[in-house]
Amino acid sequence: MRQETKCIQAGYHPGNGDPRMIPIIQSTTFKYDTSEDMGRLFDLEADGYFYSRLQNPTCDMVAAKICALEGGTAAMLTGSGMAANFLAAFNLAGCGDHIVSSSCIYGGTFNLFHVTMKRMGVEVTFVDPDCTEEELDAAFRPNTKLVFGETIANPSLAVLDIEKFARAAHAHGVPLVMDNTFATPINCRPFEFGCDIVTHSTTKYMDGHDASLGGAIVDSGNFDWMAHADRFPGLCTPDESYHGITYAERFGREGAFITKCTAQLMRDLGTVQSPMNAYLLNLGLESLAVRMQRHCENALKVAEFLEQHEKVAWVKYPGLPSGKDYALVQKYLPHGTCGVVSFGVQGGRKGAEEFMKHLKIAMIATHVADAHTCVLHPASSTHRQMTDEELIAAGVAPDLVRLSVGIENVDDILEDLGQALAQI
Ligand SMILES: *Cc1c(COP(=O)(O)O)cnc(C)c1O
Repeated sequence: MRQETKCIQAGYHPGNGDPRMIPIIQSTTFKYDTSEDMGRLFDLEADGYFYSRLQNPTCDMVAAKICALEGGTAAMLTGSGMAANFLAAFNLAGCGDHIVSSSCIYGGTFNLFHVTMKRMGVEVTFVDPDCTEEELDAAFRPNTKLVFGETIANPSLAVLDIEKFARAAHAHGVPLVMDNTFATPINCRPFEFGCDIVTHSTTKYMDGHDASLGGAIVDSGNFDWMAHADRFPGLCTPDESYHGITYAERFGREGAFITKCTAQLMRDLGTVQSPMNAYLLNLGLESLAVRMQRHCENALKVAEFLEQHEKVAWVKYPGLPSGKDYALVQKYLPHGTCGVVSFGVQGGRKGAEEFMKHLKIAMIATHVADAHTCVLHPASSTHRQMTDEELIAAGVAPDLVRLSVGIENVDDILEDLGQALAQI
């Protein structure tokens, strides 16, 4: 099946007389005839459900659709994108370990690595995604357990050179984990370029309607854990909390990562996605391919309009041929990038605030990447405690406006931007 077809068909195959749409199985528990039947589930010897904190049929069907879209071998849903990034990283790196991460990542993930996981004894080295192979190489330590990056970074919109990062990771015997939220598997499938594990904030384009928070983790099944058994004892030595199962032996490359992440981390941390949210996410996934195409068409027209507007100081959009990452875009994202555009208006911070006040369709919201066009001025909202100098150091210019272009008629969006710019 092609991607557009998988969006509709993958993950759930109803039998004779079954509901056509994925059923919402809201039940927390599942019934068995004998204690022995249930015991086999607890020993991971049989497949089945017993408690929705570990696995739920509705969530599994939606995870299977995302798995098919990414071209992976196993997947799981989580309660949010942050939960997905935490579980994916913590499944590999614990106290005394080290992560190499691109410095151009979502602010929440930056805090997760830099503050919260640091308190758990995990260290991180941030590297500029445009660094040389030698600089990247120098960031590794003997205790490095993974490399992390974002396909298209939120909010900097930097594009990752996936093959460069995958080569470095594999040369040091560790997997490349990538957050593919902004590109979605419609525009990029990182596994095709050597990435090993993909995460998502499904809250963004996958849901696409501001309707439900969620996350997902997908394994490519390509990383050979047993070939690096000393580095990954959690996957390659017996887990005492499951009667001595060794995940990499029992579930192979295809299933070890997600089985451990579900059976051990989800069991203990409990950051599940609810079946109702998974149902809403599935509705979003059905139209993902159509929506992504429209988001990208609209965003490119908006970026071109802004680029030639006299009141606009600068524009950044990965799909613009004038951008510094355009060679990477042609290689990794030939069919489209995302719907997010950032730009600066004349008059700096005051100009940006004035411009946004006059917008009628583009609404002010902290969210990005959904059907509704929305806009944010970080300097007066998410980053408002910072001075202009601090903002510039953090890569967030005082005049930066982040515009998430929706799927409305683009002429209405352009007219709205035009009339607001005319008033500053
Ligand atoms: C929003 C976002 C997250 C966090 O996802 P939540 O669902 O809000 O927890 C992680 N990564 C990226 C790239 C995001 O845009």
